[in-house]
Amino acid sequence: MPWLRVHHPPRRPAVTYLPMSLPLPVPKQLSPSALTLWDRCRLAFRYRTIDRLPEPPGTGNLVGLATHAALDGLMQLPVQDRTLPVAHELAASTWRSYNGTLWALAVSREERARLRAELAAAVERYFAVEDPTTVDVVATEHRMKAEVDGRTLTGVLDRIDRTPDGLAVVDYKVTRRPHPSYSWREGRQVALYGLLWQATAGESPAQGRLLHLVDGVVTRWKLHEGLYGAVRTELANAWRSLERACESGEFPAQKGPHCDWCGFQACCPAWGGTVLPFGGTPEEVRA
Ligand code: SF4
Repeated sequence: MPWLRVHHPPRRPAVTYLPMSLPLPVPKQLSPSALTLWDRCRLAFRYRTIDRLPEPPGTGNLVGLATHAALDGLMQLPVQDRTLPVAHELAASTWRSYNGTLWALAVSREERARLRAELAAAVERYFAVEDPTTVDVVATEHRMKAEVDGRTLTGVLDRIDRTPDGLAVVDYKVTRRPHPSYSWREGRQVALYGLLWQATAGESPAQGRLLHLVDGVVTRWKLHEGLYGAVRTELANAWRSLERACESGEFPAQKGPHCDWCGFQACCPAWGGTVLPFGGTPEEVRA
C-alpha cells in the first residue's frame, strides 16, 4: 500500500508513514537541478522529491561542496586577496570541517588523500579557467524563489557577475562535462537561473558560463528572449509530465552514467533492487 510521510515535533521519531493512495502529491516547486534529475531518472526523482527519502551518506559530493565553499569564500574577499594560496587554504579549512563525516563513514587514509587531491586539483583548474581578480561579483550562493508562468521555481545561484556585456550567470561544475548531446540541459539550467534572477531582481542576465572544474573548460551561453521562451516551454511540459506521473504512479528507473552518484541503487530495479512503495522507509534505502 502507498504511504505518506508525516513530520512530528522534536523528541519524537522524525518521520512515520501513513497510508496514501494515488494520485501522489505533485511537488509544489521545481528547481533547475530537480528538473535535470527529472530528465535523467524518474525513479530517483520520485525518491528524492516526492518520497523525500534521505540518501545514504557517502563521500560522493564532498569534493563538490568543498570546492563551492572555497570559491564562494574567495569571492567575498577584496580582489587583491583572491589568490591561489588563499583559495587552497579556504578549501583546506572546509575539508577539515568534514573530518567527523569522513571518520563516521570509515573512509580509508588512501581514499581521503585521493579526495583531498581532487579538491586541490579543482581549485587549481578554477584559476586556469578564470582570473578571480577580474571578476565583478554581484551575488554568490544566492537563493531565489519566484512564480514563473504560475508555477513556483526555486534555485541557488552559484554566482552572478556584472560584465561589460551585461549580467552573467556563473555555475561551477565539479563533475565531468556531459556528452555534447546533453549540452542543452546545461543551457537550460543557466537560463532557468536567469529567469529566476529576472523574476526576483528585475534584470535579465545576458549570458551564462559553466566552469567545468574537472575538465578545465568553460561553456558559454548567450541568454536571449528566444532561449528564455524555449526554456519556459520545457518547464511547462515538465510540469504536465510530472502531474501525469503523479496520477499514474509511473516513475521508471532510467539507468545511465548518473547512477554512479545515485544513493538509491539498493532500491532500484535497474540494479537488482526492488522499488519501494510510495513513502518507503529510510531503513529500506540503506538495506
Ligand atoms: S540507480 Fe540509476 S536508474 Fe536507479 S534510481 Fe538511481 S539514477 Fe535511477
